[in-house]
Amino acid sequence: LGGDEFAIVCDHESSLEKLEALGKDLAAMTREPIRTRFTEVEMDVSIGIAHSDGTAVSIHSLYQQADMAAFVAKENAGSNYVIFDTMLDGQVNRKFDVERALKAAIEYGYINVAFQPQVDLRTGRTTGFEALARWRDPVLGAVSPGEFVAVAEESSLIQVLDREIISKALMSAGIWLAREQRVSINASARSLNTHEFANFVLQEVKRSGLNYEQVEVEITESALIENWDKAKRTVSLLRRAGMRIVLDDFGVGYSSLSYLVEFPVQKIKFDRSFLLKASDASSAMVMESIANLANKMGVDLVAEGIETSDQLELVRRIKCHTGQGYLFSRPILAEKMADYVFNQRKAA
Ligand code: C2E
Ligand code: MG
Ligand code: MG
Repeated sequence: LGGDEFAIVCDHESSLEKLEALGKDLAAMTREPIRTRFTEVEMDVSIGIAHSDGTAVSIHSLYQQADMAAFVAKENAGSNYVIFDTMLDGQVNRKFDVERALKAAIEYGYINVAFQPQVDLRTGRTTGFEALARWRDPVLGAVSPGEFVAVAEESSLIQVLDREIISKALMSAGIWLAREQRVSINASARSLNTHEFANFVLQEVKRSGLNYEQVEVEITESALIENWDKAKRTVSLLRRAGMRIVLDDFGVGYSSLSYLVEFPVQKIKFDRSFLLKASDASSAMVMESIANLANKMGVDLVAEGIETSDQLELVRRIKCHTGQGYLFSRPILAEKMADYVFNQRKAA
């Protein structure tokens, strides 16, 4: 059905018990790793089973039911099967629709990139841009990256998505980014943990005509935790070329200062949640001590999600010198970037 999707049609003797036994067998078969001369390959299958008792049901809806059951199977770890049940229908519809549409959107190149400026708070100059994925589906409308990146992250779709965005972002920035500015791209854990990822990024930077020093890769702590060794390898390959590593969403989840020692990054991005609690004195104090530490270690700092002048004032006070947020600019679609840059230069 696709690169990694197959269908088995059982058009006789297909009692539900028999279908279930088949599902069980198929799942069991793939639990053993496949040995080649050089390596071992492990794989999982997610099996969805739909059954018709002979009453009229179209092949199309039978297929959709199996597809939806497979989708649920995929959410469970390891090889397994799920039998379609009308219960599934309501539960997974939205996620299912998003994943289906996203697959097509990636394939046809419908995912766009927007760029959000980062501003030097001392000079007012734009020092760089963060590339962010944007998607408007004809049926679903605009879907937020918060939603579709999460859906993509549950499958290997995220690797394709990351690459698509990285290619588009670098190609676009290659046209209008000023020499002294940087562009940053976001990398998910599952991308970071594949060994071809670093080479892919290196190749795309080269193709774009940008300098390696102009490119930053934003990663999150959870990405590091998921597979420390592989992430470290990818990061060191990128570093060796001259790219900078940014620790994104710092301050939420696992956040630990020990990362800064063990995992040298060039930049830390305060999570937006800090600024939402900006009026809270202890939150401001935590921000300030992180800022002090970062400044001492020679690590750059960015505060993201600055919306109000109060938040800006706090960010300035703790000596964080770069800001990003709606107060300065919303993300701008790639197709509008040439105009944006032109107008900015004219104004300067
Ligand atoms: P992030 O990397 O932390 O990106 C910052 C998010 O904050 C963006 O949301 C941005 O639009 C939003 N933002 C910036 N300034 C403000 C502000 O002043 N107020 C508010 N309320 N929000 C602000 P967006 O574009 O919705 O992206 C959400 C997340 O999705 C990103 O968080 C990132 O983790 C992920 N994402 C987006 N694009 C990509 C991508 O191409 N690849 C990967 N792997 N993840 C992506
Ligand atoms: Mg980011
Ligand atoms: Mg962030």
